[in-house]
Amino acid sequence: MSAKKILTGESLQMEKPPSKTPLKVLCKSCDHHWVAAYLPMPMEKCATLLKSACCPVCGENKAIFLDVSDGDKKAKGEQA
Ligand SMILES: [Zn+2]
Repeated sequence: MSAKKILTGESLQMEKPPSKTPLKVLCKSCDHHWVAAYLPMPMEKCATLLKSACCPVCGENKAIFLDVSDGDKKAKGEQA
């Protein structure tokens, strides 16, 4: 019997559960940001969701983009 089950104590102090990552989108029309989906999600479902995404503020549905300006990742500063 392995001890794998005892992983619960110390690694659970993160703010968000690692299994669910919010996928943020942004409305270019009114600059509203919101979470359109949570990952992991099958690619095709995600695409469907994003395609039919609609801004909850102004109703725009053509100018919805992935919000990649996450404050979390500013430290990296890498660009290919
Ligand atoms: Zn909008």
